[in-house]
Amino acid sequence: MGLPQYLQNETMDDLLAAAWQRVSNKLSIRFGDAVFRSWLKPLLFAGSAASNIKISVPTRFMREWINKNYIDDIRTLWEAEAVSEGYAIELVIADSTVNKEPIAQPQQGNIITAQNWQADQATLEAAPLDIDVQMGAPLDPRYTFENFVVGKPNELAHAAARRVAETSNIVQGCNPLFLYGGVGLGKTHLMNAIAWHIRKNSPERRVLYLSAEKFMYQFIRALRFKEALAFKEHFRSVDVLMIDDVQFISGKDSTQEEFFHTFNALVDQNKQLVITGDRSPSDLEGIEERVRSRLGWGLVADIHSTSYELRLGILQSKIEQMSNASIPQKVVEFLAHKITSNVRELEGALNRVVAHATLVGRPITLETTQEVLHDLLRANDRRISIEDIQKQVASHYNVKVSDMHSARRARQVARPRQVAMYLSKKFTSKSLPEIGRRFGGKDHTTVMHAVKKVEELISTDHEFSQDLEMLSRLLQS
Ligand code: ADP
Ligand code: MG
Repeated sequence: MGLPQYLQNETMDDLLAAAWQRVSNKLSIRFGDAVFRSWLKPLLFAGSAASNIKISVPTRFMREWINKNYIDDIRTLWEAEAVSEGYAIELVIADSTVNKEPIAQPQQGNIITAQNWQADQATLEAAPLDIDVQMGAPLDPRYTFENFVVGKPNELAHAAARRVAETSNIVQGCNPLFLYGGVGLGKTHLMNAIAWHIRKNSPERRVLYLSAEKFMYQFIRALRFKEALAFKEHFRSVDVLMIDDVQFISGKDSTQEEFFHTFNALVDQNKQLVITGDRSPSDLEGIEERVRSRLGWGLVADIHSTSYELRLGILQSKIEQMSNASIPQKVVEFLAHKITSNVRELEGALNRVVAHATLVGRPITLETTQEVLHDLLRANDRRISIEDIQKQVASHYNVKVSDMHSARRARQVARPRQVAMYLSKKFTSKSLPEIGRRFGGKDHTTVMHAVKKVEELISTDHEFSQDLEMLSRLLQS
């Protein structure tokens, strides 16, 4: 009542998703970290139908395992949720497209994707202690500056975050601080780190951290319970407001409106704002122009995808934090080499490998690692596209991407084209005719010839083979 129809529609899946997150939190407490991370954490809310909610599970095997071992507990916890009435749980194998390219997936309505799931899994925790906890989200104790590994891809974002955290007044030119980057690259981690730092060093400053999704949820609740005024006052009384995953409010007009006013009120009062998104302010779709332009007012810092060195550093740091894990260096390098998508998956892979070894009581080897991670490895493999290869190769040899499609036979464009064809064969699962088509409609025999030629050069020309080695590394990082 009192709530416009479109808002009601907007919220049903939200409520179900939030309830699922609470169930997930409880599962983590009930089964402990190792079991949770290996089996239960990957269960994601994937939408609802008339009488059930869909929970996605990455593989068939995992579904069987969960059906055998955990489904009763899951059902019991689910049925304890108020909104669960009339919604039975259905475990579905994850849509492989969602699995493969979580970065490219836009936020689909209110469906919780891997993208915002982890950040929000703890946000709707029961038993609020005070209003900030109730309105905001609890901070993750692991997400501190100390635990953040800095490398080239994230050094700007890290420096900006430190700056904002360490200066007790507003940092000129850094308001708002807008951090953006693909999923799992450390945005939430950096935000939490800022919040921890301020809480510790300037406890008098009021820091409010929450996801844009929760902002929306709080806002809708406030409207429903006629607490809009208290909502506004609360958000406008903080010293530092942090909103995570702002892309979530795209298309949600009333939430955007409220966000915009909150934003302006805080900036007017010289309060610090920190905001993250999955892309730069100007690229955010479904967000009003005036909001986008505000978001880009201050310092905009992006986090690039990880490099091999950074992944290695992160793995080493995580392993040091695990007291009892012994992992061969070969396996560590293998993971850094293969799990290139993002840090979250990298961590997940490491945890799965360790959990598996603990469960079966056998040491970790390259073979068991490959076995335990086969689904992840496949998904990571598929991520390199022919376009990526063409771009990378063109820039490496200083030719135009359009030369990849042209029929010019001059050596300085024909050789790079052959290299790109060879790498397309090596790194994608596309067939020779398909590769030919993507290079401006060449015949499959042309591709075959290119592959042979490049193989030949690799074995005879040392410099060339080093070149290719480097290109391959770049593509996989
Ligand atoms: P995002 O918010 O960008 O999607 P998160 O901040 O949730 O990503 O990061 C995903 C996971 O990866 C977290 O567990 C985080 O601690 C870890 N992580 C990301 N970047 C780093 C880093 N540079 N050093 C250590 N851990 C990292
Ligand atoms: Mg995040």
